[in-house]
Amino acid sequence: MSAQTQQGEGSGSPASFEAARMQLARLHASPESQLRDLWLQLADIAARALHVERVGVWILADENRALRCRYLLQFSSQQVFQGAVLRAQDFPSYFQALEQQRTIAADHAPDATTTGELRASYLEPLGITSLLDAPIYVSGKVAGVVCHEHIGAPRTWTEAESDFAATVADTIARVYGEYEHRHAETALESYQRHLMELHRMEALGRMAAGVAHDFRGIVSIALGFTELIRRVPNLAPQADHYAQRVIDALQRGQTLTQEIMSFGKDDPVSPRVLDVGAALSKCSHMFRVLLGAGIRLRVRSSGPVSRVFMDAAQFERMMLNLVLNARDAMPSGGDLDIDYEDAIVGDEDDERATYVAIYVRDSGAGMDEMTRLNAFKPFFTTKGDRGTGLGLVIVDQIVARAGGRVKIDSEVGRGTTLQIYLPRIAGAVR
Ligand code: ADP
Ligand code: MG
Repeated sequence: MSAQTQQGEGSGSPASFEAARMQLARLHASPESQLRDLWLQLADIAARALHVERVGVWILADENRALRCRYLLQFSSQQVFQGAVLRAQDFPSYFQALEQQRTIAADHAPDATTTGELRASYLEPLGITSLLDAPIYVSGKVAGVVCHEHIGAPRTWTEAESDFAATVADTIARVYGEYEHRHAETALESYQRHLMELHRMEALGRMAAGVAHDFRGIVSIALGFTELIRRVPNLAPQADHYAQRVIDALQRGQTLTQEIMSFGKDDPVSPRVLDVGAALSKCSHMFRVLLGAGIRLRVRSSGPVSRVFMDAAQFERMMLNLVLNARDAMPSGGDLDIDYEDAIVGDEDDERATYVAIYVRDSGAGMDEMTRLNAFKPFFTTKGDRGTGLGLVIVDQIVARAGGRVKIDSEVGRGTTLQIYLPRIAGAVR
């Protein structure tokens, strides 16, 4: 891209901003327009006028606790990304700045007070040096932000550029308003509902964890006294046998309470730009050990795969749960294939969203319809005492946090494929 040049007579001059402003003023949502086309046009105008490599539109969701990427154009490759989620709890200074500044102009974004917290997780992996962000206001309140991301030597944003960024934000608000006027219910709303459900799940998890904590205390006391019973002199062998059975049951109770506690725990997460292939190869050795000799594991991708934005430890936890379920489904051995690729899937608002898809396919027992419908419900298990019914709940929670989705494809006797779709944040590592 030749657009990395600094202020010259042509682009970046008052005249070129004026021309770009005219283009923005003419942008509008007609009855036939698709939001994605409008965003594409808008991002293209902004990228050219400001000479930036990436232009992203992020919308507040989950009662303003998160920003979800609605659209991100990578100019030089003309790639589009969407769906990634940034949470206020992970990036508090940035969220605060959104409420307080008309534009966030960070010449050296990795060191700026407002955007420095994005340094290791976002800016550095993508090579972003300067950021020019403008909150999007709807009805007098911040509803999102448009981010202009510059790659290359850091630059000093001019007042004209800051003003232009604010105009881009105002245009987004206007176009969104026009579009919403035409479409009673937007994808945004249905996404917000999904996040609300997630929130309820988290609250349930915390409550369960509280109960589990107290319960663990009770189990420990019972275990202690049962051990003492076994030490009573001249205990009848039969009584000792029963005491041992009680101990076994209590130990299972202990394991279960531990798992419930870790489920409810609000682990600190550090989402970052993540290379799925690298993350998978990091844990595939552990998976091989867990699966044992009877199950053949294959991890493959058909080509270069885009990067996602999520916590690396949560990614591993998600994969671990899927691998363990596959192992349980193949007690006498089989094949476990983990394939991953860039995929485009119809979104809830019928837009085609870009994901990194991960398919975890086993040649195991498969699920009947009842199991498939209940698999994501907390504490649903077909494994009796050996299962907790929390594995897939955890997977669902982790994926939803990253802005993605999970699907099951399974048939009795033909094995199971868990399909994980994670929003892309950037292209493949070259
Ligand atoms: P758990 O593994 O403790 O039972 P999960 O939430 O991980 O809990 O899974 C719930 C249920 O979904 C399992 O008990 C099992 O019936 C079903 N299931 C999950 N993964 C698979 C799989 N790969 N093959 C067959 N059944 C599965
Ligand atoms: Mg499980």
